[in-house]
Amino acid sequence: MASSRVTIIGSGNWGSVAAKLIASNTIKLDSFQDEVRMWVYEEVLPSGEKLTDVINETNENVKYLPGIKLGENVVADPDLDNAVKDATMLVFVTPHQFMEGICKRLVGKIKPDVEAISLIKGMEVKTEGPCMISSLISDQLGINCCVLMGANIANEIAVEKFSEATVGFRENKEVAERWVQLFSTPYFQVTAVQDIEGVELCGTLKNIVAIAAGLIDGLEMGNNTKAAIMRIGLAEMRAFSKLLFSSVKDSTFFESCGVADLITTCMGGRNRKVAEAFARDGGKRSFDELESQLLQGQKLQGVLTAKEVHTVLNNRGWLEMFPLFTTVYEISVGRLPPTAIVEYREHKSKSC
Ligand code: NAD
Ligand code: 13P
Repeated sequence: MASSRVTIIGSGNWGSVAAKLIASNTIKLDSFQDEVRMWVYEEVLPSGEKLTDVINETNENVKYLPGIKLGENVVADPDLDNAVKDATMLVFVTPHQFMEGICKRLVGKIKPDVEAISLIKGMEVKTEGPCMISSLISDQLGINCCVLMGANIANEIAVEKFSEATVGFRENKEVAERWVQLFSTPYFQVTAVQDIEGVELCGTLKNIVAIAAGLIDGLEMGNNTKAAIMRIGLAEMRAFSKLLFSSVKDSTFFESCGVADLITTCMGGRNRKVAEAFARDGGKRSFDELESQLLQGQKLQGVLTAKEVHTVLNNRGWLEMFPLFTTVYEISVGRLPPTAIVEYREHKSKSC
């Protein structure tokens, strides 16, 4: 069997950690080519240098993952066409809002039998309905796409603290196991489950709950309230997932991609952090402003996801079944104050 050539599309905080994990394996395993290409959305640093050049000179992503060596076999490439040329395995890991444009650019540029995996937490909503990012990739590029989600705060995995992840696949277990092999290290334990929609929806929807958890922190409501919000959020995640895809399995919510990711993101994620700041100053600064002030170019997924899910709920007449998701959306667009997160039941009954 010819050895696989891996390209990573994306080079943010998680993209860079994914590069480190993958590169540590391709160098060891004969069935993969050593070199890992990483497509970089090019930018000029305050020093005047290009990010790609600095990554290739220092072996560090100085903007999105400073202080961590990626592995000498990681090659940053700002040219998307060149980065994917000859790749047989593609790892997609950009903020979800950029994926539609990236897929359009990739049409006709990749090998037809390439295997893909998405590490992206988010969805697109089209006129015909919601579309998970793995489906966007599969549909637009005509390729098979698995997903990898989990309790994976990138900065912790970057310093090799133990964590777990879940690969979701549709049919082909062998392909899923190949992804497990590519990502697994002693400190990163990966399990494959046959429930691609369940895995991807867990990763996507927990970002809305993380916004709610951050609001609770900003309002200093304490642990019991936060736990209550997480429980209600988990229940809405499960109900929404099952309404969209009846195939979603309950057991998936007990994998790393489910309750474990919900917990870690509500404790230590970026969505939580920005929502806390939003609540602390009473919603005076928008999420967009706070994102650029607090995250140094990194991107939030929860606010956009709340909007996308709200569109689905509205279109399908499901708004009243999902008071937490709905309230997070209303707060994020400034229609309700941050305090509404604990008043949402009362608010819903008043407005109905
Ligand atoms: P990030 O938020 O750290 O970085 C933003 C990235 O977007 C940068 O690489 C930037 O160059 C790029 N970018 C900016 N404008 C762009 C454009 N117009 N087109 C294309 N790219 C552009 O990224 P990340 O943390 O790697 O997140 C990627 C995905 O991984 C998200 O869906 C996120 O939810 C998921 N994820 C992140 C973590 C984490 O801890 N960071 C963990 C698990 C999953
Ligand atoms: P944030 O984007 O909120 O940091 O969440 C990261 C994550 O998905 C951890 O698994």
